[in-house]
Amino acid sequence: MKEIDWSNLSFGYIKTDYNVRINFRDGAWGELEVSSSEYINMHMAATCLHYGQEAFEGLKAFRGKDGKIRIFRLEENAARMQATCQGIMMAELSTERFREAVLKVVKLNEHFVPPYESGASLYIRPLLIGTGVQIGVHPADEYLFLVLVTPVGPYFKGGFSTNPYVIVREFDRSAPLGTGIYKVGGNYAASLRANKLAHDLGYASEFYLDAKEKKYIDECGAANFFGIKDNTYITPLSTSILPSITNKSLMQLAEDMGIKVERRPVPEEELSTFEEAGACGTAAVISPIQRIDDLDNKKSYVISKDGNPGPICTKLYNKLRAIQYGDEPDTHGWVTIVE
Ligand SMILES: *Cc1c(COP(=O)(O)O)cnc(C)c1O
Repeated sequence: MKEIDWSNLSFGYIKTDYNVRINFRDGAWGELEVSSSEYINMHMAATCLHYGQEAFEGLKAFRGKDGKIRIFRLEENAARMQATCQGIMMAELSTERFREAVLKVVKLNEHFVPPYESGASLYIRPLLIGTGVQIGVHPADEYLFLVLVTPVGPYFKGGFSTNPYVIVREFDRSAPLGTGIYKVGGNYAASLRANKLAHDLGYASEFYLDAKEKKYIDECGAANFFGIKDNTYITPLSTSILPSITNKSLMQLAEDMGIKVERRPVPEEELSTFEEAGACGTAAVISPIQRIDDLDNKKSYVISKDGNPGPICTKLYNKLRAIQYGDEPDTHGWVTIVE
């Protein structure tokens, strides 16, 4: 194995030794297989290729000061993948089988879990695709579940910092009764143009309003939004938002800290009232928001006046990271230690 420069890793793909796979055939999931191939051999008429039967997940493993490897909220990711499978009519994998596969692939690639000091982690990407053959639009009768891992660097290279976002009205990521609540590749394909537009204008990411009325806040690119004011953590409730496990965890931690939590529709104008705000997800935990520009209406909602992350965002971020790395006790049972 080539030496990896742990502290200079980005969020990119690095080949590891193994991936694991389970096939669904004749109505049942088979045995777990270990593979060292980076390729999938499949039929050209597989439903994942033509009709988007594809679900994925994203979670991380962290190496603690004690050398132990901890996986964050594995069961929650398993449950969300099951919900996605129901949403696009794919065979569901039990939490038990999901856990078996994730533990196996992490264990097999143990030496790719970055050292504690680097602030890096091992990204775990479960994938479930329709491999059965269909030319008419129907769910497949065969599926492949695969888990790959790749080491990723710390999200904040220059330290925890804020970013600007831009409201995009020309493109929707998901429809109110569409697949926005499921973790499917199609939502990402739908977001590429908005994302490019935002990047071309120098923003960290695009910011979506609800597709129907363009009145309420939906998501910040591929991350959930939350705002903070009056000692309250406020996050949008909508039928087109992906239920982020990071957001769910932050809501719990906020409650633990005596901060009120509200989940409700958040109108765009309310942005002017937040003392702090952030985008949250597995990649960054929290990416604090500097400002959100509404170019169509020549408005700019400046959240962080001094450009620095606010005190509550910082506290929540540090707390969640501490639990992930095992620096603080896992009082909610969120962590699976790889034995
Ligand atoms: C994965 C994802 C998130 C973040 O979810 P986490 O479970 O916190 O990683 C948010 N929004 C979208 C659209 C996503 O796909």
